[in-house]
Amino acid sequence: MSNPSYARVIIDRSIHRELDYLVPEMLAEKIGIGSRVRVPFREKSALATVVSLLDETDATGIRPIEAVVGDKPVLSLKLIELSRWMSAYYCCPIETVMRSLLPQVIRRAEVGWKKQLVVSAAKPITPEELEKLRRRAPRQAELMDAVVKLNGPIPAAQLLRQTSLDNQTLRAVEKRGWITLNEEAVARDPHADEVFIASANLVLNSEQTAALKVVEESLAAPEQAKPILLHGVTGSGKTEIYLQAIHSTLARGRTAIVLVPEISLTPQTVERFKSRFSEAQDTVAVLHSHLSEGERHDEWHKIHAGRARIVVGARSAVFAPLENLGLIVVDEEHETSYKQEEAPRYHARDVAVVRAKMEGAVVLLGTATPSLESYHNAMQQKYRLLNLTERVDNCQMPLIRIVDLRLERRKQKVAAILSEKLRAAITSRLEKREQTILFLNRRGFSTSLLCSNCGEARDCPNCSVALTFHRGAARLSCHLCGHTAAVPKKCPACSQDTLIYAGFGTEKVEANVNQIFPDAVVRRMDADSMTRKDSYRETLHAFRTGKIDILVGTQMIAKGLHFPNVTLVGIINADLALHMPDFRAGERTFQLLTQVAGRAGRGETPGEVFVQTYTPFSPSIQFARHHDFAGYFQQELEFRERCEFPPLNHVVLITVRSAHEGRAQLSAETIARRLKEALPAEFILSSPTPAPLEKLQGQFRFHILMRGAAIMRLSRLVRATLDKLPLPEDVFAAVDVDAYQLL
Ligand SMILES: [Zn+2]
Ligand SMILES: [Zn+2]
Repeated sequence: MSNPSYARVIIDRSIHRELDYLVPEMLAEKIGIGSRVRVPFREKSALATVVSLLDETDATGIRPIEAVVGDKPVLSLKLIELSRWMSAYYCCPIETVMRSLLPQVIRRAEVGWKKQLVVSAAKPITPEELEKLRRRAPRQAELMDAVVKLNGPIPAAQLLRQTSLDNQTLRAVEKRGWITLNEEAVARDPHADEVFIASANLVLNSEQTAALKVVEESLAAPEQAKPILLHGVTGSGKTEIYLQAIHSTLARGRTAIVLVPEISLTPQTVERFKSRFSEAQDTVAVLHSHLSEGERHDEWHKIHAGRARIVVGARSAVFAPLENLGLIVVDEEHETSYKQEEAPRYHARDVAVVRAKMEGAVVLLGTATPSLESYHNAMQQKYRLLNLTERVDNCQMPLIRIVDLRLERRKQKVAAILSEKLRAAITSRLEKREQTILFLNRRGFSTSLLCSNCGEARDCPNCSVALTFHRGAARLSCHLCGHTAAVPKKCPACSQDTLIYAGFGTEKVEANVNQIFPDAVVRRMDADSMTRKDSYRETLHAFRTGKIDILVGTQMIAKGLHFPNVTLVGIINADLALHMPDFRAGERTFQLLTQVAGRAGRGETPGEVFVQTYTPFSPSIQFARHHDFAGYFQQELEFRERCEFPPLNHVVLITVRSAHEGRAQLSAETIARRLKEALPAEFILSSPTPAPLEKLQGQFRFHILMRGAAIMRLSRLVRATLDKLPLPEDVFAAVDVDAYQLL
């Protein structure tokens, strides 16, 4: 059979179309579907990915491929298929999708393996020779003393470090022929210095056993299996089910991906996977955003070459180039961080479900608080629902108490940060030497600086939000764009000495707690206090070993952490998430309360949770208090039905932005008019409105919201409408399918 003569490629740049090129005979052997190639494009050359091979083409003016990048195709046929699906579903050019699929270091193939010099013994040295050497060149003899004791090759740097000798000595010994020096590729393993102690399977309780049985049945017949939603209360041992399911997957000769929210991808999490599968060093690869380019290169190739068989990672690990994929686990499937907020605006959980289907793999979604979307799918029998209602080791669910801040305010005359009840609870924990977590989803000291004379607030010049005061840094800062400003002494508007600080964040909670409990050890954990690479790990370690009494923090402390000695959790203000202008506000509040409350009582002593709120009767708070997910789901679903929101419909949000307010508004109105002509009546189109966050990073923003059930059709119509509409140069329109960020 002759080699195919043409290749169809997708160029890395946004041109919205695929192009055909001639495959030169001398490259034919090396080019396959998924290969990276360099092709002539317009006057220059460009990088591209081969998506199909053709015997003939109708295209004219065909030019030959210039070169192949890398040794092997980097994308499988399945992953190319997945890109096409994402492009259509998320209304996004395929070249943008491809950019997400392949890390930049792989696309460009500029970073290679790290090379190191390795020493191996060459010819044996006789005792006589060694004695002679000792007299004439004592340092070389010292080196040879170390070499004869070696069991095998050793990195030169390590040998020199051990012997305190230098490179010159090494080269001299090499010249005499006793050793050889070779350059070898080494993996940059970010976990190389850690020792993982092998762990064995834990004994499952009856609920876990039943759940694992269903997962294993699915693994045996993945083609017929539905996605599985594992709804297990906090502390019910979901991770153990993942681990044993992965074990079965590997035993079937297949591979597995575990997605974890970036914030939960802690050393503790990685360790659980690495130690369970420690039989071969490379079995587990870890992908997250803090890897260096070199580490990312190495982890990616470890997966691509088939050495790693389990990939643990954040959002983009859903694209890990594993062959023979058998299982995708999505832990904390309700987490909104699975949604990427820049193009392609995909949701990793939904992509996981689609990829699993394409690859004939099983997908396992786990959570203590299912998203409305996933739970609705389970109720519709599209997903298989498995329940874990008990905590492992018979730990009890924490007791949740609601503190009505309205009453508290009347009692204390001021808006106190800690209610009397919470204060008393902390005191008793300090006496018993138990630990407390205080949660507030807002960092900084004061959330705004107001003038009591003229009412003027210090807003960010680029965004329509107030600047937050950070006492540690002694500056005002914008949490959206990072703008900072000095703290004025007088009101810049009326020049009076009447500035007051209002609202509070974690920094003030910490200060307040320190003041009330001067003898307690208090630490804060948020984006401001965790700036060094190791500070997160250090603080967690200090907390775990009991060196901290009270930990104050943002969502950084809400997720998946397990501390047996924490018996009290205080939620400083439960209303923060509730009053966001977002139809998911209630859902987020329920999830957050349940997750944070879940940090209490993971040991032998039952936990207690205090929820401080001005709206004690809000359904999200009441259902969370009673650990009643089913009740909460029914009530929330009715609300979503009434307003025709997800999960009953898909939403598509177009954000039109420009530094010029009038042009942004005009463009939004034009787009909405064209959409109105293009969309059939089954789709709901809202009029363009200023976004709740009207100005962000100096850009004025307008929203157009669409809703409908047939999402593929809606996406296609939106794409077609926008493609036909030239926007002014300084106006941008972003399409977000299944939007989560509605601000
Ligand atoms: Zn003023
Ligand atoms: Zn700003």
